[in-house]
Amino acid sequence: MSKVYNWQLGREMSYPYEGKYPRRQFAFVFNINRCIACQSCTMACKSTWTFSKGQEHMWWANVETKPYGGYPRWWDVKILEKLEEANPGGQIWSTSGAPAARSPYGQFEGQTIFEAGEKALTPDSSRVLGYLPTDEEWNSPNLYEDNPVGERGVRNEIDKTGTQLPVHKTWFFYLARICNHCSYPACLAACPRKAIYKRPEDGIVLIDQKECRGYRKCVEACPYKKSMYRGNTRVSEKCVGCYPRVEGTDPETNGQPMETRCMAACIGQIRMQGLVQLNPNGTWLEDRKNPLYYMVHVAKVALPLYPQLGTQPNGYYIPPRWAPRPYLRQMFGPGVDEAIERYAVPDRELLAVLQLFRRSNVIIYRYEIEEGPKVYEGTFHGKPYTLYNDTVIAFDRDNREIFRTTIEEPLHVRPGQHANSI
Ligand code: SF4
Ligand code: SF4
Repeated sequence: MSKVYNWQLGREMSYPYEGKYPRRQFAFVFNINRCIACQSCTMACKSTWTFSKGQEHMWWANVETKPYGGYPRWWDVKILEKLEEANPGGQIWSTSGAPAARSPYGQFEGQTIFEAGEKALTPDSSRVLGYLPTDEEWNSPNLYEDNPVGERGVRNEIDKTGTQLPVHKTWFFYLARICNHCSYPACLAACPRKAIYKRPEDGIVLIDQKECRGYRKCVEACPYKKSMYRGNTRVSEKCVGCYPRVEGTDPETNGQPMETRCMAACIGQIRMQGLVQLNPNGTWLEDRKNPLYYMVHVAKVALPLYPQLGTQPNGYYIPPRWAPRPYLRQMFGPGVDEAIERYAVPDRELLAVLQLFRRSNVIIYRYEIEEGPKVYEGTFHGKPYTLYNDTVIAFDRDNREIFRTTIEEPLHVRPGQHANSI
């Protein structure tokens, strides 16, 4: 195996291929605090890409209720258990010392799915630790929707004493998921046909349908279970990152890179997608005014999903403020406490960037903030707080303004002649 640098783990790790990085990388931030599980994203994807015969159980985009839900069922619990078996008690992070730019979450001391797979390597074993879900595990994508963890950790036993921040006594949250178009894709690493590739222009991971022979090694290896097998064509399929939109060749885009269908459909305005610039070693190039770079590397409110698995996923999440921190730490790594603290009492710049979500479907490359008047002074979550009505402006790839919006939502008063006119 080669050695590649995984900045989310703060260290080098083994990977079957040499690191190859795209010119720009497809990445996204999902703000869990806003998701209402309307499933508009799920249906936008399904009605675009997986509406045909043989794709009935194929949900490239899905939204599951955590902690009980999962598509396929128990996908995260199962892979974490396998890693624990491979490295008992060793799946831990070292966070001592100040986080450096190359290791913002500290250093992961355990084994990734590639390292655990390498250790167990035998002539007939796979080089990535994984498993194949059963048919039953794929067949109910939204089981346990809205089932909370209640009193004494019992499912659905609502705590009667009420609930308040910082951690709710009865809790669940919605986890929206798509393929993470990982920097070190496990699906690609496991494919014996080399049918899976990562596009050099945007890092989108695709399966070449003509090369695939349906061995399902990618299904077994992807820890997020986002590569799926289609029985009637006998090949595997996965999220294609709506690449005609991202590359601006879809007629609807007018030539400008546009966000995917699941992003554009998001009612809760939780989603923002971008194309981030990379350094030669796969770390993010400093791009201070790119909203994704700002949320991931400057404000550090958005964290990768299960970074310890080792694929360097390009999906980032603003964790839910109300969920127990140990649960969130195992899911998003050691950056959780800091991320929630910053999100709960956002500074002036973060508040402005949060207004950029879903005002347009065009991919934002840069933002600017114009300072506005003070509109509030007081305390917020026990801390002194001043609110300014700043204006945030979004720019496209060609540095043209896409839109501008303010912190205070604009108020439109309906003219008197329309009263009771519905
Ligand atoms: S999430 Fe899974 S299918 Fe998507 S690129 Fe990563 S390993 Fe491959
Ligand atoms: S469309 Fe947005 S708010 Fe609705 S379920 Fe999907 S991610 Fe959540």
